[in-house]
Amino acid sequence: MAKIAVIGTGYVGLVSGACLADFGNFVTCVDNNSEKIEALKKGIIPIYEPGLDDVVARTVAAGRLSFTTNLAAAVQANEVAFIAVGTPPADDGSADLRYVEQVAREIGRAINKYTVVVDKSTVPVGTARKVMGWIREELEKRGPEAARIEFDVVSNPEFLREGSAVQDFTHPDRVVIGAESDRARELMKDVYRALYLNETPYIETNLETAEMIKYASNAFLAVKITFINEVANLCEKVGANVQDVARAMGRDGRIGAKFLHPGPGYGGSCFPKDTQAMARIGRDYGEPLTLVETTIAANERQKQRMVKKIEDGLGGPGSLKGKTIAILGLAFKPNTDDMRESPAITICEGLVTRGAQLRAFDPAAMKEASWRLSAIKDSLYYAHDEYEAIEGADALVILTEWNQFRNLDLERVRRLLRAPYFFDLRNIYKRHEVEAAGFTYFAVGK
Ligand code: NAD
Repeated sequence: MAKIAVIGTGYVGLVSGACLADFGNFVTCVDNNSEKIEALKKGIIPIYEPGLDDVVARTVAAGRLSFTTNLAAAVQANEVAFIAVGTPPADDGSADLRYVEQVAREIGRAINKYTVVVDKSTVPVGTARKVMGWIREELEKRGPEAARIEFDVVSNPEFLREGSAVQDFTHPDRVVIGAESDRARELMKDVYRALYLNETPYIETNLETAEMIKYASNAFLAVKITFINEVANLCEKVGANVQDVARAMGRDGRIGAKFLHPGPGYGGSCFPKDTQAMARIGRDYGEPLTLVETTIAANERQKQRMVKKIEDGLGGPGSLKGKTIAILGLAFKPNTDDMRESPAITICEGLVTRGAQLRAFDPAAMKEASWRLSAIKDSLYYAHDEYEAIEGADALVILTEWNQFRNLDLERVRRLLRAPYFFDLRNIYKRHEVEAAGFTYFAVGK
């Protein structure tokens, strides 16, 4: 059992903090967003993440999880400080480390005893050493006594997925620990004792390797998605069915069935920025990651291709002018309210640019959509449910595969739609069923 401060109480920080408390640790979650912390103190969870409210309620009630805006006090009262702040893309594609630096420096100004500082945020190779430098600089500024305070920096990348974050954090495929001292490694074993005892693969390595593992994993998954998207596009041209192709490919143990689902392109808070950051690292070191670079470009094309697919399906260039399109799903994937880099943004904007009006519904992302889609707000009506979105529209487009969109009452949909166009960009319906209900059906790669 360890005493932990988690700095940054977003998707990763809050889930990590709550689950680490559930493992038996004592955790203080810190954020500089006081509204968020006030809400959490009242038991309000600021994000949509299945199961998280239970873990938070349970661990708060047990006295093992608390919330504060006071970083210095939290760091001083604990022995491990996780950095879990955002690392958004900078204009040049590299990861913007300004929040990590702010927090590292604040830690350096605060610590008063040996502390293990853990990089949980996804950061470029070399960041752990920068964090060390920032903390050391701040300690030295405080004078010779503070300069003698010892600390270690550990890289512990996170692999949870939004929508299944609690399950992923508590049942990870592996825990990766990049560290340079036995003292830090031992403390990290305390932090993850519940998993360590469960024989979760526990990979101890150096700082640079741990940082690389995270980018290499995400870039590989992005390449895999993009590969099947391109195969899907070709399937459409040659008359093949990508779902059968993917199913057969996936049975090959060397390939694996996951991440072989074609769609409108990957999005979210991780793949787009992590592929860009990794490509940038490759260029900086004169070792270009050509596959990753190509994947980034192909993913952009895929999103645009969806707009063209809808336009072509409705009759070709100019056909979107004056049409009303029902959009089901705005989040970048189901079970989250997160719309960061959601393909829905590009696709909705593309449809509006070509003259369409939209009626959209998402079970969780409506609030976020209200500002992320503000550029097209005059052409966008937010419906209260899927059927209201569909009412009077000239076509239906499924952009996110929420469960409630998998079982639409097709007869009712047909009655509500003005024209029978059904664009299933997540391949969640069977062509013959949709066609039997009187629709013209479009999917991806079949
Ligand atoms: P987020 O934007 O949801 O949360 C970041 C939090 O940090 C915010 O609440 C913000 O207020 C807070 N913050 C920023 N600066 C601060 C400061 N100086 N002091 C205190 N708090 C501060 O981000 P996220 O999605 O949780 O991502 C965090 C990191 O984890 C990123 O590096 C991301 O790449 C990585 N990651 C994310 C996921 C995911 O699915 N979201 C998965 C794995 C890894």
